Amino acid sequence: MSKMNKIFLVSILKKSIRLLEQFLYPLKCLKCGVYINPDMIEPDTIEAFFCEHCMKSGFYPFDPPFCTKCGLKFHNSFKENHICEPCLKAPLKLDRVRAALEYSGIIKDAIPLFKYHSKLSAAKLFENLLFQAFLQYYSSFRIDIIMPVPLHREKQRKRGFNQAFLMIRNFKKLYQKEFEQPPLWEIDTTSLARIKKTQPQTGFDIDQRKNNLKNAFKVVNKKTIDNKHILLIDDVFTTGATCNEAAGALLKHGALKVTALVLART
Ligand SMILES: [Zn+2]
Ligand SMILES: [Zn+2]
Repeated sequence: MSKMNKIFLVSILKKSIRLLEQFLYPLKCLKCGVYINPDMIEPDTIEAFFCEHCMKSGFYPFDPPFCTKCGLKFHNSFKENHICEPCLKAPLKLDRVRAALEYSGIIKDAIPLFKYHSKLSAAKLFENLLFQAFLQYYSSFRIDIIMPVPLHREKQRKRGFNQAFLMIRNFKKLYQKEFEQPPLWEIDTTSLARIKKTQPQTGFDIDQRKNNLKNAFKVVNKKTIDNKHILLIDDVFTTGATCNEAAGALLKHGALKVTALVLART
């Protein structure tokens, strides 16, 4: 078969597979369940997961200006990033926090659907968004370990998955594709454990949140984190109590630096 014929055949085959997929797994809005017309929609983009009507609540990328430390978004016309007042007064244990999105609009609906209603198809979308943010904010850093914030064993068993891990499951593959070489970091899901069954943080103020999480994490393997730059991954960062408590435990047991990348930041 000539090279041209082969290329033609492969393209026909790809198109057929796509049509078959659309037939077997039609796109449905994760929020309201209506069918989404797949024409003109790039697979795995936000438009492939939410209908036009639901998308009206908006989709907000994490853009400057924000706090260079905690990533708090400034809603003013001053475009320069700078350190926010709370960070000047009481610095976080985390070296810096960056996000893929602002925690508002459609993503505020999407994250609970993913976490509590097992709409796991969203993992691919979240992973793509998170990886783009990783490239933007962390690709120039020497990172040793990427670590999804662990859940308590019982909670993970009940839910069936750790949402933070699902969002970085294919990070190595994505990295390899982007840079044509394997990354220097490893994904670590075992060195840190959550040993305290905490109350849901919703409805708590900052101090209550901190108290709720006190001593919630335990370093299981000190050797692997010793002198390492660890990038924590989580879905949402509001007051940052969870990530910060995890960072505290890691730093106390020898980590060099702890940073965070989250899907959405308030
Ligand atoms: Zn919808
Ligand atoms: Zn700040």
